Amino acid sequence: MLEVKDLRVSVEDKEILKGLNLTINPGEVHAIMGPNGAGKSTLSAVIAGRDGYEVTGGSITFEGEDVLEMEIEERARAGMLLGFQYPVEIPGVKNVYLLKAALNAKREHLGLPEIEAPEFMKLVREKLQFMKMDNSFLHRSVNEGFSGGEKKRNEILQMLILEPKLALLDEIDSGLDIDALKVVAEGVNSLRDEGRSIVMVTHYQRLLDYIVPDHIHVLSGGKIIKSGDKSLALELEERGYDWVIEEAAQ
Ligand code: ADP
Ligand code: MG
Ligand code: MG
Repeated sequence: MLEVKDLRVSVEDKEILKGLNLTINPGEVHAIMGPNGAGKSTLSAVIAGRDGYEVTGGSITFEGEDVLEMEIEERARAGMLLGFQYPVEIPGVKNVYLLKAALNAKREHLGLPEIEAPEFMKLVREKLQFMKMDNSFLHRSVNEGFSGGEKKRNEILQMLILEPKLALLDEIDSGLDIDALKVVAEGVNSLRDEGRSIVMVTHYQRLLDYIVPDHIHVLSGGKIIKSGDKSLALELEERGYDWVIEEAAQ
């Protein structure tokens, strides 16, 4: 589904990613972990198409298409949901309009007509309830005045409504108390499906108690230096990252 090959990325002339390889197959849940400043968010940002990152080598393909050649909107239409797409506050644009526009863009891509208003509202209310979110969320401006936890819930709400093929969630657990973390995890888990891939970038192993990934990768020094299963996360929690970094250096 997603293939990152020998990716090199610089930010302000500093090379951050130095030949990163990652393969995500349909149905898989991957976690990308690593020390602070390793380049995890840089990887998310480049996949999402954010400005300010210079790709100096390698490739990213999504279902065989060259992602680096796609506009952000094209990425979304193709079924990639990237937490970075709507990170910012959009004053004056109600959440509900953004959700509807995004869903209709996807439907158009699939050759489907626009969703009828009652059907859309039924869908949205159902998902809001699932995420234990208040209906008032719909009428607030996108992310404006949202707390950290509310932004995260809103990100998962988008995902539940848009049902992307690939979801990339950067630090979805940051700033969440344990109850909110459980709600967010339930949302993500409800989307696990053989046709859908989920990539979680996270600093903490705690999230992985609730969303158990199929594969875990350690990003350090601009590359994936170790991959494993859930047991690797436990080992990292116990022993930190240094031993992996030393092992990779040898
Ligand atoms: P992580 O998410 O793993 O903590 P980041 O991808 O945020 O790491 O950062 C990787 C490195 O790139 C850090 O050294 C950071 O200072 C640098 N970096 C990231 N974004 C920028 C930017 N916009 N301008 C300058 N340096 C940046
Ligand atoms: Mg695999
Ligand atoms: Mg980060």
